[in-house]
Amino acid sequence: MTSTTKVPFLDLVTPHQELKAELMQVVEKALGNAGFIGGPMVEDFEREFAKFCDTKYCVGVNSGTDALRFAFMAADVKPGEIIVTVSHTFIATTEAISQVGAHIAFVDINEQTYTMDPEKLREYLETRCEFDKTRGKLIEKASKRVVSAIVPVHLYGQTADMDPILDLASKYNLIVIEDACQAHGAEYFSGKEGVWKKAGTMGRAAAFSFYPGKNLGACGEAGAITTNDQEMAKRMKMIRDHGQAKKYYHDIEGYNGRLDSIQAGWLSVKLRHLAKWNESRRNLAHRYHELLTKVKDSVVIPVEASWTKGVYHLYVVRVQDREALQASLLEAGIGTGIHYPIPLHQQKAYEHLGHKAGDFPVTERIAREIVSLPMFPQLLYTQQDEVVSRVKDFLAATVVATR
Ligand SMILES: *Cc1c(COP(=O)(O)O)cnc(C)c1O
Repeated sequence: MTSTTKVPFLDLVTPHQELKAELMQVVEKALGNAGFIGGPMVEDFEREFAKFCDTKYCVGVNSGTDALRFAFMAADVKPGEIIVTVSHTFIATTEAISQVGAHIAFVDINEQTYTMDPEKLREYLETRCEFDKTRGKLIEKASKRVVSAIVPVHLYGQTADMDPILDLASKYNLIVIEDACQAHGAEYFSGKEGVWKKAGTMGRAAAFSFYPGKNLGACGEAGAITTNDQEMAKRMKMIRDHGQAKKYYHDIEGYNGRLDSIQAGWLSVKLRHLAKWNESRRNLAHRYHELLTKVKDSVVIPVEASWTKGVYHLYVVRVQDREALQASLLEAGIGTGIHYPIPLHQQKAYEHLGHKAGDFPVTERIAREIVSLPMFPQLLYTQQDEVVSRVKDFLAATVVATR
């Protein structure tokens, strides 16, 4: 953030200033009893976050990436098996897949929601794979590998379309692990069951990240896994703590993947404000929608499908020349971001998967056009007006120039 920044992309200073006294009490408490690992602050937060998410269990871990990895391990995904996800996500989703020795299979996203397209998932499962009845497993025809899990990503704070995804999963005996790292408190309306459901309650387990910039952020690294499955919760607790349920009795090899007590204490303080912060994000998003509809021919605003109640981790629009828009906003002291500029299947890290341009056309097109505008609960209407007026000026100028 430079001194000329009028509207930062994200303001992490203000919320922590506002909560400073409470946050410092957590530090005092931890220093007082030297309870830095585990203990009541972790257990309290786990109980509170499970309640917030409407799940029976929450297991605190040290990042969203490890949350995904531990969930795969606890669900018994085996090395060599295939996990299906989207290419339009943060690389942590697929890193966790590789870290358990599994293989990544991508499917394209829906052009309106930017989340996994259930039809593309069906196409992959039904044309590229076949069900082996004797083993009760789905096999990818070309590689002969077992397909074992699906990871829908609730991107930008909006849930994936879970009903059809869960139907396909149960039809083909696949585990669903939600990547809810951007969706703390988001909801999905299950038409099938006629009820609203929280992100994190719909799969076998779900991963949350508390990276500082997320809707609920720690003051450092942290994450959590939610589940309604007692056995899963028990296994994930062991995996995060060197495979032990009792100190120095190791049933399996695990990881050092615990949630720190101070982070848990800070998260408890901030969790009390999350519902209000999410409401503020929703309100700001709807205000952006309204202010930008007048120029809707030249900018694509987010679509909130009838089955989702988004928590707007990001407010992402699409324009023709997004680099020029970013430059113009930057000149006016307005910060922006791109989430994400290069689809995973086109990243150097995944060259070995052998994908080529055109494999996931919706993902590729969207990656060229998206820009994330300033979005955080403390964003002021005056700042938002400034962003919108600058976007409109830019669009008016480019329309004239291309005529
Ligand atoms: C942030 C994020 C992660 C990883 O979380 P970390 O806590 O940074 O490890 C995973 N998936 C998505 C979609 C994310 O946005």
